[in-house]
Amino acid sequence: MLSKIIDQTKIDHFTKWFERSESIVIVSHVSPDGDAIGSSLGLMHFLESQEKTVHVVVPNAFPDFLKWMPGAKEVVLYDRYKDFADRLITEADVIVCLDFNAIKRIEELGDVVLASKARKIMVDHHLHPESFCEIVISHPEISSTSELVFRLICRMGYFEDITLEGAECIYTGMMTDTGGFTYNSNNREIYFIISELLSKGIDKDDIYRKVYNTYSESRLRLMGYILSNMHVYKEHHAALISLSKEEQGKFDYIKGDSEGFVNIPLSIKDVCFTCFLREDTEKQMIKISLRSVGTFPCNKFAADFFNGGGHLNASGGEFCGTLEEARAVFEDGLERYKELLNA
Ligand code: 5GP
Repeated sequence: MLSKIIDQTKIDHFTKWFERSESIVIVSHVSPDGDAIGSSLGLMHFLESQEKTVHVVVPNAFPDFLKWMPGAKEVVLYDRYKDFADRLITEADVIVCLDFNAIKRIEELGDVVLASKARKIMVDHHLHPESFCEIVISHPEISSTSELVFRLICRMGYFEDITLEGAECIYTGMMTDTGGFTYNSNNREIYFIISELLSKGIDKDDIYRKVYNTYSESRLRLMGYILSNMHVYKEHHAALISLSKEEQGKFDYIKGDSEGFVNIPLSIKDVCFTCFLREDTEKQMIKISLRSVGTFPCNKFAADFFNGGGHLNASGGEFCGTLEEARAVFEDGLERYKELLNA
């Protein structure tokens, strides 16, 4: 049995909306990851099984290794189909905001979501949710939004209606946001949920292969290249890797190719904090990814130095400037956090 972590009043409130609505739009964050797409499509499959008209809208493209997911082709990319998405959002009865806590995380999509008269619900697991939704289901202690979507559907009384396709999407989100159940994954209820998803017929080993073992040759070569230039800060138990625009060009970089790279230096003995700096190809900025093991607060580091946020062990942010400047800010941060890094 699962603990009833979501407030009954919120379940009842959403159930009322759900029963009365016909058209539902699900939105998720920029550069959608496995949990953003997994939770969105997982919920989409369930709502479709209840004869609702459902659309998933995200700000921009998601990585190729998620494109096998059932329903992935139907996801509307806002940067390509703005007018269509604007109409869907404006005319929706309900908007479900999944896997983000702040309106800026959906970039330009935020304006039309805020302007829409639709009722809005947030289902998310990031700290400090903003209050742009009438119903806020926010549980930072839960490791993925996909898990929250599973819990929500079950608490509404519809476990039986979760389809194989929906179960595959939910499992993918749970798996990717825990690095294949290697972090944030000690809650035993996660494994109860997996067992329930297996009862729907998912092949978890096959999902793992589709997500983690379908990379291109150039991605593997890029990984080797980046690691050979890695900088380890022994005194700070930290490591840094980076990727410039020019290097991306050399390795035929496509979106998603560097997914997971930031975790690799954590496999070095005594390294508990890593940083990945990537020069963005679309905007003039450096995208920052931070990861830690144990109690080191990546989210605080991201907020202090890179205008970002996230979770204790996985966070991110942005930096306006050059790669060298971003590296200098990171090194300055390491010095300031030296005591904590050595704790
Ligand atoms: P990633 O390193 O995979 O891009 O991001 C890890 C986590 O950091 C995300 O799940 C999200 O919670 C957070 N994050 C990433 N980028 C940003 C950002 O620019 N701003 C904020 N507030 N959080 C971010």
